[in-house]
Amino acid sequence: MSTLKITNLSKTYANGVKALVNVSIELENGMFGLLGPNGAGKSSLMRTLATLQEADSGSATLDDIDIINQPTELRKVLGYLPQEFGVYPRITAEQLLTHLAILKGVVHSKERKELVKYLLDKVNLYDKRNKNVKGFSGGMKQRIGIAQAIIGNPKLIIVDEPTAGLDPGERNRFYNLLADVSSDVIVILSTHIVDDVRELCTKMAIMNLGEVVYHGEPQSAMDDLKGKVYQKIVTREELKQYAEEYKVISNKMVAGQPHIHVYSDHHPENGFEQVPPNLEDVFFSKINTSNVLV
Ligand code: ADP
Repeated sequence: MSTLKITNLSKTYANGVKALVNVSIELENGMFGLLGPNGAGKSSLMRTLATLQEADSGSATLDDIDIINQPTELRKVLGYLPQEFGVYPRITAEQLLTHLAILKGVVHSKERKELVKYLLDKVNLYDKRNKNVKGFSGGMKQRIGIAQAIIGNPKLIIVDEPTAGLDPGERNRFYNLLADVSSDVIVILSTHIVDDVRELCTKMAIMNLGEVVYHGEPQSAMDDLKGKVYQKIVTREELKQYAEEYKVISNKMVAGQPHIHVYSDHHPENGFEQVPPNLEDVFFSKINTSNVLV
């Protein structure tokens, strides 16, 4: 069992943007979801943990490795799938993984051959091993990304916004693969997609404007809202008025009609019904901006 401990990490960019404000999170093996809207600071945190950029202050340790001061040690046990693992050369899947395995220090050719076969099998691309990766679908590219991230048996795997742009089938296959590789390592999945966290994560944090605004289990966050979420189907014209009158925490279109969820300590009048809280409700109530008008 490994432990990743992040303590009071802060980072302000040269332009004055506070991307990380005293971020503290502790996590162990399994899939951890880092949820937040665009601009929340997720990538800044992921890049800091991946030793690609420095924080201004604070500390982060993975077991006995000091991530900030021993970046080389950390890199030996890190698998990283960056947000933009987008540059795919005109070589086959097998050639690409072979090349990346060499870069990661797998120098013996027999061992490397076995590893590449294992990786291709694991991410279900063995049949496509002789195909050019440039022509792969988004989901296949992400699976190659996971294959390279697990070279060298990492203790910590970081995946930054991995499901954006995948179709539902690809997303499902990718979820299964991630769940499969996360059994005995720490996986941090950064995402702005609530479904990613609902499907995969037993623990999560929500970030907004550089701060951690929730840290815990998705289920207990939903339990906290129990009895306080009410739903009503309204017209699009009424949306603005409801947003002014109530604390609207989410707004979902169902068959072209807005279904709004409001947060309230008591039963609002006029046609609201109490509903079980979902993870979207948690997300939007924690980041404190309803998405009602977007
Ligand atoms: P997320 O991954 O949650 O979308 P980021 O960490 O990418 O968030 O960005 C957090 C904030 O920092 C945003 O306001 C973004 O515009 C800003 N930012 C990110 N990278 C830089 C940079 N290199 N220089 C200046 N501002 C940056």
